[in-house]
Amino acid sequence: MTQLSLAYIFQHQKLLVDQNLELPKVEKLASDLPIHHNDQVIARDLLDDEIIPEGYQLVPIRELIQSWPTTAFLQASRAVQLLEWRRNHKFCSHCGHHTEIHPKEYAMVCPACGYHQYPRVQPCVITIITKGKDEVLLAKSAHKHYGNMYGLIAGFVEVGETLEEAVQRETLEEVGLKLKNIRYMSSQPWPFPSNLMIAFHAEYDSGEIELQIEEISDAQFFKFDQLPEIPFKGSIAHAMINEIIESNEKAS
Ligand SMILES: [Zn+2]
Repeated sequence: MTQLSLAYIFQHQKLLVDQNLELPKVEKLASDLPIHHNDQVIARDLLDDEIIPEGYQLVPIRELIQSWPTTAFLQASRAVQLLEWRRNHKFCSHCGHHTEIHPKEYAMVCPACGYHQYPRVQPCVITIITKGKDEVLLAKSAHKHYGNMYGLIAGFVEVGETLEEAVQRETLEEVGLKLKNIRYMSSQPWPFPSNLMIAFHAEYDSGEIELQIEEISDAQFFKFDQLPEIPFKGSIAHAMINEIIESNEKAS
């Protein structure tokens, strides 16, 4: 009997699942990407012209984060990032030759010059800024698809920068404030497309709110009990806001 593998089958950022959001089981193909070096779990691309099997649907992984347990979402997130990395590294970035898949590691290897291309994550800092005992800075994005939601200050770490410097720089750029007592909180892989979100708590130090209007349409300090619409459950921003408010409740 053929052994079936649990399959993460993606079309771009959408995952193939059945009506109960369960993954399909498939016969493994040579082109499949093993997940966790384990043949029982694989990832593959579903091409745009391939037919969606009966009883299955394509669900954006952004939606799965709200219905799946964290560990399941993280595995799906790993699968989609590895597939995207493999798709984007078919050629050697050093000499332009076709690459080959390394048999054991996650590496795309150039047979001509030997250059190895590995998957990369992009470090991204996200900061919850508090003022006094019961106020938090929340900012509304200038990009329309975020609607009325107020989130936290976030941005990519630049080359040669420490994480703390990135926190200070992003905050100064986006809302014109200086921070003190920057403390690490937690982290979360975020597959849109391949970020590692690194969460910090910082306290307001000085400055008046001054918006970077291309990025931020509004930013204010809100009282903990008068928050506007915040990011959805499952996002690191949601967890950070809850954690800060809960620790304040315990302290008071
Ligand atoms: Zn090469």
